[in-house]
Amino acid sequence: MSREAMLYERQPEGKVRCNLCSRRCLIPEGGLGVCAARKNVKVKLLTLSYARACSVNVDPIEKKPLFHFNPGSQVLSVSSPFCNFFCRFCCNWIISQQRSTAQTSKMPPESVVNMAKKLHCTGVSYTYTEPTTFFEWAYDTAKLAHECSMFNTFVTNGYLTPEAVDMISPYLDAATVDFKGAGNPIFYKEVMRVPSVEPIYQCLKAMKRNNIHLEVTNLIVPRTGDSEEKLLELARWIIGNLGEDTPMHLLRFFPSADMVEVEETPAASVEKARKICYEAGLRYVYTGNIPCLDGENTRCPNCQELLVERHDFNITKWRLRDNMTCPKCGIKISIKGKYYGLLIARRFYSMLHLFNMRK
Ligand code: SF4
Ligand code: SF4
Repeated sequence: MSREAMLYERQPEGKVRCNLCSRRCLIPEGGLGVCAARKNVKVKLLTLSYARACSVNVDPIEKKPLFHFNPGSQVLSVSSPFCNFFCRFCCNWIISQQRSTAQTSKMPPESVVNMAKKLHCTGVSYTYTEPTTFFEWAYDTAKLAHECSMFNTFVTNGYLTPEAVDMISPYLDAATVDFKGAGNPIFYKEVMRVPSVEPIYQCLKAMKRNNIHLEVTNLIVPRTGDSEEKLLELARWIIGNLGEDTPMHLLRFFPSADMVEVEETPAASVEKARKICYEAGLRYVYTGNIPCLDGENTRCPNCQELLVERHDFNITKWRLRDNMTCPKCGIKISIKGKYYGLLIARRFYSMLHLFNMRK
């Protein structure tokens, strides 16, 4: 199933320019973009990933990770193959680095929204690979989800152009923007084949301007992607441009895909990184992929009271007042939306792997 792409322009000699992500590929007739998800067919750009699902799951929203947006809710997570990055460590490489839709199933926007409703989800998340490369499917689905009073979230590498952000923003409520190696340009070039990091900052500014709730992650990769200096720069940039209340998630790396020669991130490095971010002035800093530490919990930035306790992406204790204030000192905690509570059904559905299609 393909359809005409959004955000492209015709160029001389039968070429087209894709303006969806900041690679802005110039694609000759018959050619594919860098991501392989878009093809120039007779000077018309087609998206090949439209309504082609490769993974569909029910997840707690905390798994995105989104800790400060509709906590306790469940989202239907969907993805299509392809990515515009080529990260050597990608834990979803089987789907992100596919260059075709051969192993997918047809899933039009109506089916996604109907499934979300049926499974008691309150939102849809476009995730696992890179939603930019299935933008049109996400756009149509997100529009329909809004009509059914559901919210939408992206988990993205942040390479959408500002015009793509502006286009999706009426329907996009929240985004998790993933950095790796604290945005070190050398790391992006050598390990991820990404020419420039600058567009990610532009994308984040566009999202902020459009009032999209933002949470940022950073994957800490030993040796090549663990610069403390770069992390401090990133934390300061977030404070200056997105605000000190922006939640930051520091993720531990595990050997995976084509990067098994690098050891897992020592827990001490992740803790040190957390300290750096707090000292820089960020007020909500979390750690991920390290069970049993305090890193998933929300504490009051004013009095340090424990407000939300999480374990393995599940909320196990909720102590905030209904108006999202600290029960001890009364300050307002920056959490958007409402708390959905501890649903018994949620535990069941979060385990439910609906399908990982191999058709
Ligand atoms: S979305 Fe794909 S085709 Fe478009 S600019 Fe990015 S990599 Fe190129
Ligand atoms: S950007 Fe994300 S999905 Fe794409 S290759 Fe990198 S880690 Fe995988």
